Amino acid sequence: MPARLLVVEDEPLINQAVADRLRAEGYAVTQAFTGPEAVALADAEEPDAVVLDIMLPGFDGIEVCRRVQSRRPVPVLMLTARDDESDILVGLGVGADDYLTKPFRMRELVARVHALLRRVERAGELARAPRAGVSLDGLEIDAAARRVRVDGNEVHLTPTEFDLLSMLASAPGTVLTREQLLAEVWGWADASGTRTVDTHVKTLRAKVGGARIRTAHGVGYALETRS
Ligand code: CA
Repeated sequence: MPARLLVVEDEPLINQAVADRLRAEGYAVTQAFTGPEAVALADAEEPDAVVLDIMLPGFDGIEVCRRVQSRRPVPVLMLTARDDESDILVGLGVGADDYLTKPFRMRELVARVHALLRRVERAGELARAPRAGVSLDGLEIDAAARRVRVDGNEVHLTPTEFDLLSMLASAPGTVLTREQLLAEVWGWADASGTRTVDTHVKTLRAKVGGARIRTAHGVGYALETRS
């Protein structure tokens, strides 16, 4: 069965172009044009992934993402009209996995959607495989339950943040390059999205404590070990 996608965009031409291209790639696509319509269709159709514009009539894409994720977690690729970092940070914080800034190339959109769906498959496989947890300087990662505690308090991470933290925790103190993180966490073969890594590190830091993740400027990130 083809993967089912929900495309949410109020500009008819863009909505149609995106939907046509994704159908040509073999996906089953449903189209929504407003915030309320998107939430209703996400409920009714249970898509495998959502391509979600931020600026929408009714209520915006951030609110759509929040409502959809609270009912049933689903991978979301956000579309932003400009490189507005505050929108992007809020969007990633409410569970979006990735974002694209307009104008984007269709080829890039398709690559991101492929990667998103591949990653969901892989996360399912990982969740089924038995894995040990990690405990490091008050940071506890329960890999099986996909839960994280910081100094005894549970913190809520998005699926992407959890995967990113787990990857960093697999080699504490070691710098992982942004390209490595992109390949392992996002499943991307090319390095065109290194800013995506930076943005997710920012939201992850806000949740687990900024000092826990060290920046190697121009290279990548490492999980800090205090001892
Ligand atoms: Ca729009």
